Amino acid sequence: MARSPQSSPLDVVIAGGGPAGATAAAVLAAKGRRVAVLEREKFPRYHVGESLLPYCYFTLERIGVLDRLRASAFPKKYSVQFVSTSGKVSVPVYFFQNFDHPAAQTWQVLRSDFDQLLLDNAREKGALVYEETTARELIRNNGAVQGIRAVAKSGEPVEFRAPVTIDATGRDSFAIGRHGWQVRDPYLNKIAIWTYYRGAKRDPGLDEGATTVAYVPEKGWFWYIPLPDDVVSVGIVAEKDYLYRESRNLETIFERELNSNPWVADHVAPGTVCAPYRVTGEFSYRSRHCAADGLVLIGDAFAFLDPVFSSGVFLALRSGEEAADAVDEALAGGDVSAARFEAYGDRMRQGIEAMRRLVYAFYDQQFNFREFLTAFPDMKFDLNECLIGNLFRDFDPLFRAVETFAKVPEPLPHGRPFFREQPVQCR
Ligand SMILES: Cc1cc2nc3c(=O)[nH]c(=O)nc-3n(C[C@H](O)[C@H](O)[C@H](O)COP(=O)(O)OP(=O)(O)OC[C@H]3O[C@@H](n4cnc5c(N)ncnc54)[C@H](O)[C@@H]3O)c2cc1C
Repeated sequence: MARSPQSSPLDVVIAGGGPAGATAAAVLAAKGRRVAVLEREKFPRYHVGESLLPYCYFTLERIGVLDRLRASAFPKKYSVQFVSTSGKVSVPVYFFQNFDHPAAQTWQVLRSDFDQLLLDNAREKGALVYEETTARELIRNNGAVQGIRAVAKSGEPVEFRAPVTIDATGRDSFAIGRHGWQVRDPYLNKIAIWTYYRGAKRDPGLDEGATTVAYVPEKGWFWYIPLPDDVVSVGIVAEKDYLYRESRNLETIFERELNSNPWVADHVAPGTVCAPYRVTGEFSYRSRHCAADGLVLIGDAFAFLDPVFSSGVFLALRSGEEAADAVDEALAGGDVSAARFEAYGDRMRQGIEAMRRLVYAFYDQQFNFREFLTAFPDMKFDLNECLIGNLFRDFDPLFRAVETFAKVPEPLPHGRPFFREQPVQCR
């Protein structure tokens, strides 16, 4: 029989202590809920995904970590800039131009430190955090999820029972995997290869912490993200067949592609590679369902979108926050059935769809930001709203205009809760 590590009953058990899980834990613990977070790794641990969006600010403010971010060594990010395949740099999109708020300045974060900060914050708010504890199985009762069976570092099986389970396991997608719920985006099926440079070029002044998106031919792009300690994160995202066309050696592919964009080649030239080359596939998917009875999916464990506009951490933070509010209300109402999470799912789908439409436009060979804004100068504000992460608003006018240049996808139908007939009482 598996041991239960806590003495008093839990309200919520969260699998995964990344930005989504740590945020949900902090919000729930601040509301007085008893929360346990199970995290497979010992923090700090490596993670990709370093560039934040301005709208991360509001969740970070709510969970009380802005002062720690302001005091950190994370480079300040004021803008994003685009570089053509010939190496020509666009005028940077400075977030403050259309957004007069302290949130217009955000950060490029070293994820090991950032994620540690968020998890420590959840702990300080009262969440019980169990590191090196791996979720293995959902505990079910009459079809409703009622906790998690896990394995501690020692190999000992442990059980965490609670009326609500939140899956925040990122791209490991614990619940998606166990239910067969993964639906890949039909078009956004890229791979990424990346590494880190020390001593590579940084642009001067306000642009020092800018994210640069540099196009490569064949529907691909490089990211260039300045980090603390003179390190820059550099990665390429493109079609698998394109990247693997001559070799499967990551270093060989990366070196070859660097030369496909003169700006990138010039910027990395003074630097030296200071980390292994890494690769990931399985781009852009969404779960068939955002929730079931007693279960809610957040962050990458719910959906993952191509990272070209750096939306991942924002969506992780926001889904953690919104799911936590929905879970708290469901617990207060004594009903944690899937229907209680329908509004949460609708909202997240709305935000993800806004960004997804922009991502499709980005990959459309007919679309070009400069030409678009020349044709539709009054769309500059809406475009900026999308780029800063103010995603929960009406973007139909923007995408009707985009449609004159690029194919805009229909919203995906999936991501609603999985409904059964009976409501699920929690006590
Ligand atoms: C190539 C690439 C580049 C990206 N660039 C950016 C970017 O510039 N900006 C941006 O905002 N986003 C970016 N992203 C996306 C970003 O990394 C994610 O969206 C973000 O990390 C999601 O947070 P999360 O908390 O949902 O998941 P994660 O950060 O992945 O956290 C999940 C946690 O769950 C733990 N876990 C997994 N399985 C289990 C288990 N069974 N039991 C217990 N714990 C478990 C893991 O150890 C991990 O700590 C990028 C992603 C990729 C792939």
